[in-house]
Amino acid sequence: MVKKDSIGPEKTIKVEDKETGLIGFLVIDNTIRGPGKGGIRMTPTVSMEEVARLARAMTFKTAIADLPFGGAKAGIKADPKTLTKEQKKLLVESFAKKLKPYSPKEYIAAPDINMGEQEMEWYVKANGSLKSATGKPSNLCIRPGEECGIPHEFGSTGFGVYHTTLIALKHLNLDIKKVTIAIEGLGNVGSFAAEYLYKDKAKIVSVSDSKGTIYNEKGLDIKEVLRIKKEKGSVIYYENAKKLGTKEIISLPVDVLITAAIPDLIKEEEVDKVKARLIVEGSNIPTTPKIEEIFHKKGILVIPDIIANAGGVISSYVEHLGQTPEEMFALVRKKIRDNVSLVLEEAKKLNIKPRDAALIIAKERILGKKS
Ligand code: NAD
Repeated sequence: MVKKDSIGPEKTIKVEDKETGLIGFLVIDNTIRGPGKGGIRMTPTVSMEEVARLARAMTFKTAIADLPFGGAKAGIKADPKTLTKEQKKLLVESFAKKLKPYSPKEYIAAPDINMGEQEMEWYVKANGSLKSATGKPSNLCIRPGEECGIPHEFGSTGFGVYHTTLIALKHLNLDIKKVTIAIEGLGNVGSFAAEYLYKDKAKIVSVSDSKGTIYNEKGLDIKEVLRIKKEKGSVIYYENAKKLGTKEIISLPVDVLITAAIPDLIKEEEVDKVKARLIVEGSNIPTTPKIEEIFHKKGILVIPDIIANAGGVISSYVEHLGQTPEEMFALVRKKIRDNVSLVLEEAKKLNIKPRDAALIIAKERILGKKS
């Protein structure tokens, strides 16, 4: 049972289709600022309650990013490992048709777990409107050459994480060229963040992936690390570094820890292992608000996921407007820099952690107390 409060959810919708075996959920949490934005995930365990929690996170994320979107989320209950491509396509198409009364008017879809640009193409084609989803393939256009898709592969989230890190370092009076950085996870988010930081001559001393962590206190050659990961499948085959376990990345003697992989990376009993002065949450829920409070009391600055990884949702707004990748990078840069600065100023003024400051700003924007 999903509980309602002053923000939402406005609608909780369960859809089923006996022919395709579809079981799907859509939660439209809040549309005061615009149509609900949020991804569709496909997992065997997704539930209405899970979708509702994620929809609320999207309401806050779009408000903090100051976009004319609300929050929503959707889920298809299925195990993609047991499906053929054709079966998956049928499920996505069936879901898209069932959601037509809501999408794109009140809900605009996006990729999430097990759903990428191909699935978004199936979704919009079955829905009949290219406006019903973002994260579409770049060659899928309303008119040839214009209003095309901007897929995750363009790296908007990692680009936003990079700008978040720059603003947070400035706030701490730290020089990008003089700090040491560790990046957990070198997938879509982590690899773009690493590339941009490396171009700025930042000293990235450690990166990790699902097979392990590499560490060299003198700095890693990120171009080479990315090449090795692409060629051999993991960063651990990079030669000029110590090899450590995946988890060891959280306890290295670095100034900055950027998270870009798993949820619940840092547990409460591990807080004292962390040496970083700044944690940038590029991944979703790498800690809990309670753990962030402990870090705050210890003087460690944590930039929460709802601001740090908003580059993706800002990119989706640009795609929704039918603008270009160049316009997307410009808007991600501006919004991330402005919003992170605003949240950090507010947090400093009220002596609270950045997540609390961000939620105050978001709630004021949603409930109409502040424009
Ligand atoms: P991805 O699948 O492209 O990459 C994930 C990376 O994490 C891979 O390199 C994988 O090897 C690594 N990994 C897996 N288990 C690990 C472990 N135990 N330790 C270290 N590394 C491990 O995923 P992504 O799109 O980069 O997303 C990463 C995180 O960012 C997720 O939490 C996701 O929800 C969040 N996020 C992504 C976007 C986006 O636009 N891609 C937007 C917002 C938030």
